[in-house]
Amino acid sequence: MAIVFDGVTKAFPDGTVALQALDLAFEPGEFLVLLGPSGSGKTTACRLLAGLERPTAGRIMVEGRDVTDLPPRLRGMGMVFQNYALYSHKSVYENIAYPLRIRKMPAAELDRCVRAMAELLEITRYLDRRPSQLSGGQAQRVAVARALVWQPSLCLMDEPLSNLDALLRLHMRTELKRLHRELKKTFVFVTHDQEEAMTLATRVAVLREGALIQYDDPREIYRRPANRFIAEFIGRPAMNTFDGDVRDGVFHASGFTCPLPGKPDGPIVLGIRPEQIQLVDASAGDAIRFAVDVVEPVEPDVLIFAKSEANALIVRTVNDDRAYNPGEPLHLRFPPAALHTFNTVSGARLP
Ligand code: ATP
Repeated sequence: MAIVFDGVTKAFPDGTVALQALDLAFEPGEFLVLLGPSGSGKTTACRLLAGLERPTAGRIMVEGRDVTDLPPRLRGMGMVFQNYALYSHKSVYENIAYPLRIRKMPAAELDRCVRAMAELLEITRYLDRRPSQLSGGQAQRVAVARALVWQPSLCLMDEPLSNLDALLRLHMRTELKRLHRELKKTFVFVTHDQEEAMTLATRVAVLREGALIQYDDPREIYRRPANRFIAEFIGRPAMNTFDGDVRDGVFHASGFTCPLPGKPDGPIVLGIRPEQIQLVDASAGDAIRFAVDVVEPVEPDVLIFAKSEANALIVRTVNDDRAYNPGEPLHLRFPPAALHTFNTVSGARLP
């Protein structure tokens, strides 16, 4: 394994433990995404890897070498942060050239590298401008160009897209993915946006309160969330979950029941993704009955929010022209293969 967090803990002087014994390893060339809610320790992990913070315990290894005590400038990592931190008095060209100038690259080669990177990021026509004359997306691309122009083997990006509007964010996301493919470098990307994580990552590390709670490829995280927290965090919208009890192979929750063979009697959490719930005829024998509450068309999808006693759920259908009126009954089927179960107390996924 090339890049390794080996039992890394970070406690700040005020006693806050931002990371707790983190073990995480990834390969060169990966697009690793650190995903988690605010305060989960993503930025701290990124800053530790960059050398901007020192761990309280544990070590960080890069290609077999312990870099824990190495200052940032000797780690060979490029960085892009949320606020871009471009030099406002320098032109775009000079901003991108800066890492090459401090490395004393000869002028002709420097010019070639700056222009090649500008070309790749489609910012050539802005090279003479100042950062204040750029849009957010253009400034973002300059920051990425500056981080990558000197060909670092690893590029760290901490929420680099968070200042952009929704359309630009989508556009930059695609650009980053293409850039990763073309440059063949290792990218470490911090975000709290699960959709960004799922679309960009070769692997996603999900953090919560300083602990790694799942580390897998995005598809596995979607298909087999390790616990209830991740199930309710990943997906658009996220998974529906219900607290209830199993009695004789049947799940009982407030307002509905559903067959759940093979589980011992007792409390359990049942989960099903909105897009996997089937809408059936009222005549279907095993139909689960909810009542329509709110309908949100998100073309081509329709999100149907429905209620049954204390439970609520969301159904997502696509290209659906039927009318759903508030208060009307909604007949549903939960396909057995689409069901997830979690421990009521710990939230851990059940086999
Ligand atoms: P966000 O998405 O909000 O940036 P994050 O997941 O990146 O959150 P971190 O910035 O790594 O989280 O912070 C993790 C925890 O450490 C938080 O509780 C934060 O308040 C705390 N923390 C971060 N820096 C310091 C510091 N210098 N001193 C004390 N506590 C800190």
